[in-house]
Amino acid sequence: MGRQRHHVLRPVISPRRILNSLPEVAAELIGCRACPRLVEWREAVAVAKRASFSDQEYWGRPVPGFGDPDPKLFVVGLAPAAHGANRTGRMFTGDRSGDWLFGALHRAGVASQTESRHADDGLTLRDVYVTSAVHCAPPDNKPTTTERDTCGTWLLRELAAAPNHRAILCLGQFGFQALWKALGSAGTVLPRPRPRFGHGAVIDLEDGRRIVLSYHPSQQNTFTGRLTEDMLDAAVGAAISAAGITPTSGGVR
Ligand code: SF4
Repeated sequence: MGRQRHHVLRPVISPRRILNSLPEVAAELIGCRACPRLVEWREAVAVAKRASFSDQEYWGRPVPGFGDPDPKLFVVGLAPAAHGANRTGRMFTGDRSGDWLFGALHRAGVASQTESRHADDGLTLRDVYVTSAVHCAPPDNKPTTTERDTCGTWLLRELAAAPNHRAILCLGQFGFQALWKALGSAGTVLPRPRPRFGHGAVIDLEDGRRIVLSYHPSQQNTFTGRLTEDMLDAAVGAAISAAGITPTSGGVR
C-alpha cells in the first residue's frame, strides 16, 4: 500500500512558531462559540439527551483533541458525534467509531486499551494525538464548508503546537479537505493539484511529513463492509511507520 521512503527526521515547524502547547490550545478551544448553528445544536442535544444516556451529564461544548501532548502522529477525523464525544467530552469516545479507531490503535501498540467509554476510563495514547476537522457536533454529522473553514483555525493551531509530528492519518474525505486547507494556511508547500482521496493513499509533503488517507470508521462504512478492521489496521500501521513510532513491548505510558 504505502511506498517505502526514508524520512529525514527534522523539526517540521520551528519552535519559534509555537504559540501554545496542545493542552493550552485545548483549554482555549473549549470556550469557542464561533459557529452559531453548532453552538445551538451541541447545547440542545446536551439538554434533550438520548434516552439511554438520560442519567448522564453531557459535555455539550467543543471537544478538544486527545492524546500525547508531543505527538509524532496526528489522527484527524470529522467531528464529534452528538451522543458520543459531545456527551463524553473526549474525542472519539462513547460511540462505535471510537471502538474501531482505538481498537486499531491498541492493536498497533499505541493505545493502552481497546475501549473508549468515558473521559476517565484510563485510556492513554503514546506518540499519537486524535483530533477532528470540526470540534463541535454538527446536525446529521454534516458541518458546512463555512464551519469547516472556521474550525480549521483550531486544527492549524493544533498542528503548530506539535512541532515533532511526522505523519497525519486522515479519516475520511471531509477531514482531508480540512487538513489540506489548514496546511495551506500554514504556508505548507502542497502538491498541485490536490491528490484525490482514496483509502490507503499516501501523500508526501516536501517538509518530510506523510499524509495517510483512510475511510472514516463511521457506522455507515463499517456496517457495510466498505471499511474492514484489516483495512483500518493497514492504514494505521502505515501512518505509525511514517511517523517513526517504534513498537514497544513495554506498553503505553
Ligand atoms: S466548530 Fe470549531 S470554530 Fe465552530 S464553535 Fe465549535 S470549536 Fe468553535
